Amino acid sequence: MHDPRPLLEQIPFPALRRRRLITLQINVGYRCNQSCVHCHVSASPHRTEEMPGEVADAVLAFIERERIATLDITGGAPELNAHFRRMVIAARDMGVKVMDRCNLTILEVPEQADLAAFLAAQQVVVIASMPCYLEDNVERQRGKGVFAGSIRGLQRLNALGYGREGSGLELNLVYNPQGPSLPPSQEALEADYRRVLGEEYGVAFNNLFTLANMPIQRFGSMLISKGEFGRYLDLLQHSHLDANLGNVMCRDLISVDWRGYLYDCDFNQMLDMPLMRKGGARIHISDIRAEDLDGRSIRVAGHCFGCTAGQGSSCGGALQDAAE
Ligand code: SF4
Ligand code: SF4
Repeated sequence: MHDPRPLLEQIPFPALRRRRLITLQINVGYRCNQSCVHCHVSASPHRTEEMPGEVADAVLAFIERERIATLDITGGAPELNAHFRRMVIAARDMGVKVMDRCNLTILEVPEQADLAAFLAAQQVVVIASMPCYLEDNVERQRGKGVFAGSIRGLQRLNALGYGREGSGLELNLVYNPQGPSLPPSQEALEADYRRVLGEEYGVAFNNLFTLANMPIQRFGSMLISKGEFGRYLDLLQHSHLDANLGNVMCRDLISVDWRGYLYDCDFNQMLDMPLMRKGGARIHISDIRAEDLDGRSIRVAGHCFGCTAGQGSSCGGALQDAAE
């Protein structure tokens, strides 16, 4: 696989500083039941990295100590981590909003037969990848059978109340383009998704988030192989809007890897650009206060244009819509 980091580090990006920490995003491991082409984690069933119990405990201690408002759990397929459920329960008991970045097909894995009911009982917000409402497009990116499995997953969540008005169970979908292009308007695409998924499959959801593909890991390597890396970076840079800088997710989120080390975001985690102390040591979650992060400078490089191009991208979708 090609490493895009040396190319990205040559591209300057405006300086950014952190604000007060609101969201703790933990990547509990890179194992996944799928191995999608665009995956910025290069996750697959063969990855072995997994957050151990003592790091899960350190995460929970940090949440309690620092009164963190939101826990955003990602992977891989985060539900495969042995400590996923106890972390969800502990965080919910502390009154924390918990988000699960769910690939939907995990709901069909036999050992996870009760997962959907568990998420509903804990009132976990489900953020589900659904890169298109058309079967061919989804399967080209995510593999054979994934579209039908994803629809069944959405129907299962809907049957529990997810995405239904008044249930209090939030289900948001995530769209990313098929290749090296910017996402279309989030508002217009959300209307199309609602119409097609509703009419064809009876599926309901709360919001659609559109995200640009990050030129890192598997997708970045593929761009380099095809000679498209420079053109895609040009597109991102030329579409950059300063107005998006105020809302990029790294301003009030911190990303934690499976070993407990901190990064400004999950993308920096995948590029191995950690938060460092003076002298070069990595910073561990068990060894920091939230207030120490306030005002810290954020590690930026060329991939950051993936967050600020066009309508912008964050873990909550387009920034322009969010800012309006
Ligand atoms: S489902 Fe998500 S984490 Fe798993 S391989 Fe696909 S993009 Fe990566
Ligand atoms: S990739 Fe996006 S979220 Fe991460 S540091 Fe750059 S601007 Fe911030």
